[in-house]
Amino acid sequence: RAKQEGRNRHAFFTQEMQALAMRRLQLENALRRAIERGEMCLHYQPQISLCNGSLIGVEALLRWNHPTLGAISPAEFIPVAEHTGQIVTIGEWVLRQACVQLQQWRQAGLPSMVVAVNLSAAQFRQPDLVQRVAQALADSGLPAEWLELELTESTAMHDPQAAIATVDALRALGVHLSLDDFGTGYSSLNHLKRFQIGKLKIDQSFVRGLPDDAEDAGIVETIIQMARSLGLKTVAEGVETEAQRAFLQQRGCDQMQGYLLARPLPAKDFESWWRARFSPEG
Ligand code: C2E
Ligand code: MG
Ligand code: MG
Ligand code: MG
Repeated sequence: RAKQEGRNRHAFFTQEMQALAMRRLQLENALRRAIERGEMCLHYQPQISLCNGSLIGVEALLRWNHPTLGAISPAEFIPVAEHTGQIVTIGEWVLRQACVQLQQWRQAGLPSMVVAVNLSAAQFRQPDLVQRVAQALADSGLPAEWLELELTESTAMHDPQAAIATVDALRALGVHLSLDDFGTGYSSLNHLKRFQIGKLKIDQSFVRGLPDDAEDAGIVETIIQMARSLGLKTVAEGVETEAQRAFLQQRGCDQMQGYLLARPLPAKDFESWWRARFSPEG
């Protein structure tokens, strides 16, 4: 009987793994044409100052709506695109699209704000990354100072020497850099202080437990203190409640981003959000 059960379990796992592999292959194929077919778009999530509530910028987040598979989460398709290398082409499209959108907003009279773009490891390692970024800026007309690039800790710490050199070159161009999902990787303080990175994004897994979870509260306080002593700004990700916001503000976190403020919004909806919240004409 035990043997039979074992066999069933084995068959079940094999089936499940086959289904996963099928889905992956399906996504890989669909990803190949997703951009040219107009299935991808960017949503924008605002970041505000915890000091005075002013708008600091927006993070551009990729959305994929497939005609038959429906909306596919970046948590599912970004790893696939990273695995196949498709992320390089897709990421370049994101970068260009985000620069064009921000430049349009600037020309339409929206206030000064940065647009933050997520860079995957493969993109960051491209030998001509700096030229590509410079070209995206030149083609859109967006001044470099309004672009921020988000690296994850693992991207930055994988080969710190090389990463520091790339960050220096990007900074020389005038763009800003931030470290995403901070606290989930293994940053060496020694390397961190040599990175010309302007801010740390405190990962939402630590924000979730605020203010009651003593461990999360301790970690967040420590990150804020450490960032301050390194001369870095902090942004809390995934802020959903007023109690979380109050805690972060009290502890000296500089900025926040999260559903409490706004979800990632299509460009048009972001404009309405901004007008309702900030524009004098309302
Ligand atoms: P991330 O860069 O850390 O982005 C933040 C994620 O948290 C986004 O998920 C956002 O929608 C979500 N979020 C924001 N506020 C809240 C909140 O209050 N509560 C909760 N529960 N979630 C919140 P999203 O858009 O699903 O993206 C997931 C990840 O996929 C991103 O994490 C990023 O690593 C990756 N990603 C998204 N767009 C791109 C892209 O254009 N290029 C690359 N390389 N990666 C991307
Ligand atoms: Mg990000
Ligand atoms: Mg993050
Ligand atoms: Mg993340």
